[in-house]
Amino acid sequence: MTFEDFNFDASLLEGLYSMGYKSPTPIQVQAIPIIQANKDLIACAQTGTGKTAAYLLPIMNNILKAETRHLNTLIIAPTRELVIQIDQQIDGMGYFCGVGSIAIYGGNDGIVWEQQKRALREGVDIVCATPGRLTALLQAGHINFEHLQHLVLDEADKMLDMGFLDDIKNIIKYIPANRQTILFSATMPPKMRTLAETIAKNPEQVNIAISKPAENIVQQAYVVYDNQKERLLTEILKNPDYLSVIIFSSTKDNVKLLERTLKKIEPSLKAFHSDLEQPEREEIMREFKSKRIRILIGTDILSRGIDVDGISLVVNYDAPPDPEDYIHRIGRTARASKAGVAITFINPKDQPKFAKIEALMGREVDKLPVPAELGETPAYNPEANKKLAFAPGGKRPFNKKKNFKPKPRN
Ligand code: AMP
Repeated sequence: MTFEDFNFDASLLEGLYSMGYKSPTPIQVQAIPIIQANKDLIACAQTGTGKTAAYLLPIMNNILKAETRHLNTLIIAPTRELVIQIDQQIDGMGYFCGVGSIAIYGGNDGIVWEQQKRALREGVDIVCATPGRLTALLQAGHINFEHLQHLVLDEADKMLDMGFLDDIKNIIKYIPANRQTILFSATMPPKMRTLAETIAKNPEQVNIAISKPAENIVQQAYVVYDNQKERLLTEILKNPDYLSVIIFSSTKDNVKLLERTLKKIEPSLKAFHSDLEQPEREEIMREFKSKRIRILIGTDILSRGIDVDGISLVVNYDAPPDPEDYIHRIGRTARASKAGVAITFINPKDQPKFAKIEALMGREVDKLPVPAELGETPAYNPEANKKLAFAPGGKRPFNKKKNFKPKPRN
């Protein structure tokens, strides 16, 4: 499935491609058609699955189709950080289409309060808000939800845990009953079902079960520059405990390069990639399974379905393209309750990718110190490195819109 299949406006497609999104994630594949069909939705999905874009894209596309523009959508989220992230994602994906949003959250000064009130008066399409500050604005009569079409509760379970239930119920009194209600939650405890039943009408349900790595995999990472990876790997492979090793690299060409370099220290080593004929692949797998080959280097074609017992180490020479790939790759070790180690090399450009992987797993991976003789290493700062991650297209996703041309409003 591709993003083209959703019939999005060309300007919205341009925005999401400029963010580096290539194809929809599973939650997007499932949720977008339901939202486009104007049905209510309860989705169980965690951070890291692409859940924000799953509701933002169909809503933003709907806004673009409207003949007149009003305050169209309210998104309520538990924390100011999440509200800011959602607002930034609207900015990024809406860069070329001019859908306007505002983030409303407490804890700031009177100037910001005035700015929020002015933005609301002048008109925005989407309000993203924390429940507390939104309640204050509503009670002061600064928001008009008369034309609201979509209500989204994001991380709804967290909002209930934080005691926002009464605020949410109160806010809903200000919103037209004839609306679409969308609820996203990482977990579905009974109190969440009760809330969903009271605010949504015949909701469709979507459940994205994410895989988690086995507990007995020791996950480690090294934050390095590309030119340090080879020496670091050579050092790691000197450890005799690593009897059976798989090294993943993202491209076939890198696999071949690495094969040539590492053969010098491990002549039995083999590379596994899509250029090999099927009989060759089978022969390599047989040799690897029988431990005649200690080290196998491969692309992601090695990460799924290959069940070899006793792999003691998996090395991600490059961070994998997405969290699911990471989980599949490291799942090659520690099979059948045995212990195993998974080591990932993270260069500055891959830091945002790795932060996503950590978010999906709900845990941070230990970053080990690199041997001093390899020289200075980069700092781990995924936020600051987002620019690098998007560098090839040269576009920044999160800048304020340059070509902002709002449609006429009433
Ligand atoms: P979320 O689950 O909404 O917190 O999203 C996690 C991360 O995935 C965010 O950094 C998004 O920008 C990113 N993302 C969302 N949709 C896609 C996609 N289709 N392809 C690649 N990345 C995506």
